[in-house]
Amino acid sequence: MRQRSIRVSLLNSEVWGSKMRWSISIGKIAGTVVRIHVTFLLFLFVIGVIVFRQNGAEAAWDAVAFITLVFACIILHEFGHILMARFFGIKTRDVTLFPIGGVANIERMPERPYQELLVALAGPPIYLVIFLSIFLVSGKGLSDFDIEKINDTGTNLAIRVAAANVILMTFNLLPAFPMDGGRVLRAILAMWITKSKATKIAATIGQGMALFIGFMGFFGNPMLILIAVFIFIAAGSESETAIFHDITHDLTIRDAMIEAPARLHPRDTIRTVIDYLLGSTENEFLVIDNTELEIGTITRETLLLALASHDDGTQISSLMSRPEHFVYEYDSLENALTIFERCNDQALIVKDINNQISGLISRAAIAQAILIKTARPDWKFFRGGILSKSLPKFSHGQRVASLLP
Ligand SMILES: [Zn+2]
Repeated sequence: MRQRSIRVSLLNSEVWGSKMRWSISIGKIAGTVVRIHVTFLLFLFVIGVIVFRQNGAEAAWDAVAFITLVFACIILHEFGHILMARFFGIKTRDVTLFPIGGVANIERMPERPYQELLVALAGPPIYLVIFLSIFLVSGKGLSDFDIEKINDTGTNLAIRVAAANVILMTFNLLPAFPMDGGRVLRAILAMWITKSKATKIAATIGQGMALFIGFMGFFGNPMLILIAVFIFIAAGSESETAIFHDITHDLTIRDAMIEAPARLHPRDTIRTVIDYLLGSTENEFLVIDNTELEIGTITRETLLLALASHDDGTQISSLMSRPEHFVYEYDSLENALTIFERCNDQALIVKDINNQISGLISRAAIAQAILIKTARPDWKFFRGGILSKSLPKFSHGQRVASLLP
């Protein structure tokens, strides 16, 4: 299932990416935790060692300082996006520094195109501000600026960092995913056509550009090939995410939930449960006692695997996963997806409007709803509609075979 809601950036461009393990927190700025991933430290170390062996200690320290400062600028640019998103009420938990750039873990993407436009536009000018500030402080005139000096170690470190900011901003403004320019293009297109069509166009341009950059890499800097591969993958992934969003954004959890999940008691033992499994087809179970104080979920797989490592008398309360989150029937299906991205649970407990447990939502159930929507985009799920209000509710001690007419 596609990952959502976490943004990766390559030289300050964002795509959806992986989780944030193995990172060290270095502080909090405006409510967002700044982290450094260990791979970034490793990257700095490797660069330092390579330069040291070629040109000695002084050059090595210089290279490490240069890279650190450039990446600090990338993080500052991320704060442009983060603060603009906050202006629209969207929080960002953390931002992590990777060798490929900064990764802002933005809660969700703004729904309206003009908001996305402003969030995307808030990043690149930060580079310009840094560039101009350095020149202002250094007392040099802008006419002295020469982009070629970025590679000249004889030039003042600050001036080289200023030059890097110009390159970062230019690259970042390319109108192609996953660069900020691509987001700007997508947001503008999305004012007239659907978001997924707009994304496909921006992503196709991104992939075309990646092929061009990769081609250039064969004749020049081999680093370009690596960057091209990353852009190509990132653009493709963004395009898939948009299609996925199109499918799920108008579905509620109620549309896909398991309304009468098979229930087990926390004191049930492996012995009794395995017997039950043989005569049933369910894969996810709601574990609940009469007081509802001890609740959780467990899968068929967990129970079968537990056979090898636990004795028959083991109570399933020691095997079940206890919920960190509940979801609500009328939440968007995307909410459940976002939670699934961050945990290993196979199912989440669903509550109704009265805060009563009303069923489960599983990864498999979501996949099924997406399959239906992919095959039949106009398919209407009736459970979220008026029809469902007259249907019997799931309650303890009662097993409802089918709620659908
Ligand atoms: Zn950006």
